[in-house]
Amino acid sequence: MHIAVLAGDGIGQEIMVEALRVLGAMDLPNLCLDHADVGGVAYHKHGHPLPPETLELVQSADAVLFGAVGDPSCDNLERHLRPEQAVLGLRKQMQTFANLRPAKMFPGMEDASGLKPEIARSIDVVIVRELNGDVYFGEKGMRKTADGLREGYDVMSYDESEVRRIAHVAFKTAMGRDKRLCSVDKANVLETSQLWRDVVTELSSEYPEVELSHMYVDNAAMQLVRNPGQFDVVVTGNLFGDILSDQASMCVGSIGLLASASLGDGTKGLYEPIHGSAPDIAGQGIANPSAMILSAAMMLRHSFGMDAEADRIEAAVAAVLAQGVLGHDLGGTASTSEIGDAIVAQLTGG
Ligand code: ATP
Ligand code: MG
Repeated sequence: MHIAVLAGDGIGQEIMVEALRVLGAMDLPNLCLDHADVGGVAYHKHGHPLPPETLELVQSADAVLFGAVGDPSCDNLERHLRPEQAVLGLRKQMQTFANLRPAKMFPGMEDASGLKPEIARSIDVVIVRELNGDVYFGEKGMRKTADGLREGYDVMSYDESEVRRIAHVAFKTAMGRDKRLCSVDKANVLETSQLWRDVVTELSSEYPEVELSHMYVDNAAMQLVRNPGQFDVVVTGNLFGDILSDQASMCVGSIGLLASASLGDGTKGLYEPIHGSAPDIAGQGIANPSAMILSAAMMLRHSFGMDAEADRIEAAVAAVLAQGVLGHDLGGTASTSEIGDAIVAQLTGG
């Protein structure tokens, strides 16, 4: 298991320490960790947020464990030198087209979600967002109308192969869970969505055990708040997925609890918390490392097929939350390392 460890900036460094301690406590076979710089740290050391040596490591590794990038001291740099560009460069290099974001309510965290407890308790959804297509990558520009008005345009497009490959990921994800897949689109208005719906429907014959449903995105946004428990796996395009995955994650309470995986065709993936480098709390030792630790669990599951080990880590995180070991983000006082200690103790029976 050769893992590229890219801790990055701000709290990325602090939370990565705890994630690696957790992996260390798991007695994994042939665990090989290789560190490289990314983001502002890399810019300051090497003059580029994604230096060639980091790209080389990523190329040779089986998976990438990624902390966070973002460094206020880089705010005035040219765009291509800013830390955030490193993520885009990595996605491009790794050709990751599927972004998986699980949002699950941990017992005892209902109050933090802001939803009614019985509604909050039902949240256990994975949003599968397409990452390489849609309006983000279509032709875009600014032009003048015949009346001399400025007009901006962004072309939304998907071809069927792009829909098919993300749909496969979603059906497989559903197969590993409760076997319910909801495909979200706007097929009453958009041609891309009609194609999306047709292709997902065609593919469903390959996954007869999965119960497929379709929902318009406006309704999905409402249903995620009204009755999130109805969803198991949701698959959607890049733009709708951007919005719905943020919405779903906030229903769970804290940004410090949410992990993500970005996957391509093979088993190599990039695993990172959904939050950023949090410069406002960096260096204080108070960041919640749970999202990073849960990202490491996703890595074991998706890149190495170690479902049992991933389950163990997720259960340990849940147990520690249930014990009331809460970080500042959840109204508690536990430090980054105290949360890490408690999770390691849970795993090792210490
Ligand atoms: P980015 O643009 O990199 O996503 P952002 O501006 O969205 O960054 P984040 O870094 O995600 O911001 O942080 C948003 C807020 O959440 C900040 O106040 C930060 O302190 C807090 N936060 C983020 N991650 C954690 C964490 N792991 N533990 C505690 N608080 C966190
Ligand atoms: Mg953000």
